[in-house]
Amino acid sequence: KTFAELGVSQPLCDACHRLGWVKPSKIQQAALPHALQGKDVIGLAETGSGKTGAFAIPVLQSLLDHPQAFFCLVLTPTRELAFQIGQQFEALGSGIGLIVAVIVGGVDMAAQAMALARRPHIIVATPGRLVDHLENTKGFNLKALKFLIMDEADRILNMDFEVELDKILKVIPRERRTYLFSATMTKKVSKLERASLRDPARVSI
Ligand code: AMP
Repeated sequence: KTFAELGVSQPLCDACHRLGWVKPSKIQQAALPHALQGKDVIGLAETGSGKTGAFAIPVLQSLLDHPQAFFCLVLTPTRELAFQIGQQFEALGSGIGLIVAVIVGGVDMAAQAMALARRPHIIVATPGRLVDHLENTKGFNLKALKFLIMDEADRILNMDFEVELDKILKVIPRERRTYLFSATMTKKVSKLERASLRDPARVSI
């Protein structure tokens, strides 16, 4: 199926085509119909599968209907992944004035606080630094959040970010949509799934 046939709206189909994405990848074929219908999604897929598109497209489609700051938080285990995901959101959102902030360790807190003060639509973060901002950056909270995405959840958990994940889950709205992507399904991942997703669609490739 084409992006349009999966329910992707015209502006986002155009964005995909601008990036040279001629047709949806397998994980996008599997995940997009559920996500675009408003379901939580748990996806088993590796980096390189196009999973970023699988979660970014439904977020952007919903954001276009309800433009709002701090709309979506993407948690990912490493700085490198955070920058890559940030770039894909920016590329897909280049036509719609999307503001993205990448919040990772090793970067000046004050500069990041300035980036957060611009009220980005999308925050892509590693869990440790995000908790640092939740605890120390005045005026910053995630009460408006509509989407939580946990990318490479198995790696997040293997890196002992469980305490940070718990802290984040406690301060974001219950009423939200959640996507969890992982390369492997471990005990810790299924525990996190039970704690954070609601009646999710399961997709794997
Ligand atoms: P990811 O697995 O999300 O890290 O994506 C891996 C690479 O695949 C990135 O460079 C994307 O730009 C690219 N990509 C994602 N979706 C598609 C698609 N439908 N067609 C072609 N390339 C894609």
